[in-house]
Amino acid sequence: SVTYQNVNKHFGDHQVLFDVSLDVAAGEVVCLIGPSGSGKTTLLRCANQLEEISSGLIWIGDELIGVKQAGDRLEVLSEREKARQRQSIGMVFQRFNLFPHMTVLQNIIEGPTRVGRVKRDAAEAQAMSLLERVGLRSKSGAYPAHLSGGQQQRVAIARALAMNPSLMLFDEPTSALDPELVGEVLEVMRELASAGMTMMVVTHELGFAREVADRVVFMDQGRVLESGPAEKVLTQPADPRCQAFIERVL
Ligand code: ATP
Repeated sequence: SVTYQNVNKHFGDHQVLFDVSLDVAAGEVVCLIGPSGSGKTTLLRCANQLEEISSGLIWIGDELIGVKQAGDRLEVLSEREKARQRQSIGMVFQRFNLFPHMTVLQNIIEGPTRVGRVKRDAAEAQAMSLLERVGLRSKSGAYPAHLSGGQQQRVAIARALAMNPSLMLFDEPTSALDPELVGEVLEVMRELASAGMTMMVVTHELGFAREVADRVVFMDQGRVLESGPAEKVLTQPADPRCQAFIERVL
């Protein structure tokens, strides 16, 4: 699970998140929608400490992110502790950021063998079963440049899963893909959702959100303006800006 409590984020004097509070239960799939620049990406990046929040608290499960309670005050965690926390969170970006000089298999076992200290044989066996799951078992020896964008993105998902994350963050994972390749990536995400993974997904794919999300959260100008069951938010939003956004996107 993830809990954001009164999170604010500034870049210099530019505030991009305003008092965001949001709960994502274990096994829940939450899609974040909203106009460009509304803070969706920043919200995700704060969860795995790619950005530091200016104030507020974030929990993953029952563990505070980036800080720990020390008596009645908060103490910043060591880099090592932060790295350990990051490992429990998988992230998939808009652009497939696979290591270009490594094969698909090497890309997937890199994290577990280096950071997770898993033995190579075990990591390879797990990687092959993850490749099976994303439909790319036959591509284990290929280099990223020889794969389509959709295939690369499915490898990126497998690579994130190899660290056994308790939470998966997706930042517009299909927006850089040719339209005909979007479906295969959404299909892998759909499968992951139905297997019970906790997921936060920034997406413009409202059809996917409607079908897969338990909850849809609409953000605008750094604030959560609407949050509720996917069907409700996407078809009868209460907030006028959310309504206008959905009409524009559909
Ligand atoms: P998009 O859909 O375009 O990705 P978004 O809703 O994900 O938009 P963010 O990318 O989170 O929005 O950006 C929110 C605001 O924060 C924007 O005004 C952006 O310019 C600003 N911003 C993001 N990252 C930085 C940074 N590293 N330094 C300064 N400003 C930033």
